[in-house]
Amino acid sequence: MRIDKLITTGGFGSRKDARQWVKNKQLQVNQVVVKTTKQQVDPEQDEIRLAGKVLTYQPLVYFMLNKPQGVITATEDAKQRTVLDLIAVADQRTDLAPVGRLDKDTTGLLLLTNDGPLAHRLLSPKSHVAKWYQAEIDGIVTAEDQTRFAAGITTQHGTVFQPATLKILSVDAIQKRSIIQVQLHEGQYHEVKRLFRAVGKTVLHLQRLSMGTLTLPVKLPVGQYRALTAEEIRALQ
Ligand code: URA
Repeated sequence: MRIDKLITTGGFGSRKDARQWVKNKQLQVNQVVVKTTKQQVDPEQDEIRLAGKVLTYQPLVYFMLNKPQGVITATEDAKQRTVLDLIAVADQRTDLAPVGRLDKDTTGLLLLTNDGPLAHRLLSPKSHVAKWYQAEIDGIVTAEDQTRFAAGITTQHGTVFQPATLKILSVDAIQKRSIIQVQLHEGQYHEVKRLFRAVGKTVLHLQRLSMGTLTLPVKLPVGQYRALTAEEIRALQ
């Protein structure tokens, strides 16, 4: 492939960066300075260096983050911390993006990748990818709420939500709090919070546990991330 293609698909920089680096004689292939961005390279065989540092070509990357509260699901923001700010510089790539979004106050599983087709598939309403959430609810969640969730809720503003599975894990009748898990097959804006609002209750804390085949590992601390295993990547395809 052309060296500028390797630069862009490897997430090292843009084509403009590649032109600049060639102009500045900062790129080397097998210790020979690159003269043109059209130079052909073999990422498996050739040693490619940028400003003396070897570039390890990895076209597609996949990370799972245990998102903490207080960071926004965006790639950049002038004022607020984003989920990308939690990824170490070595793993930050120009093309890395979160798959879908969690609210600023939601914690839990967030997939980040530069695999656009996979992200598109996981987010497509046609795919009906299941997502499990756990939440603490202000109020006593009832069997009637479960029936309403299972039937699919239409809000008073006319928004239609697809059927969702609601499991009640525990109820504190004195504090009037419930711990529940809910499974959605779509990803409408603030969906869990709006579903509970529709049955007269408030979500106090929300955590995403899974997305399709991908599950948040118990051992991944809040705010930490790790690369997906080959098996996890295969299962998502
Ligand atoms: N539903 C919500 O209300 N918020 C989230 O962050 C995710 C799902």
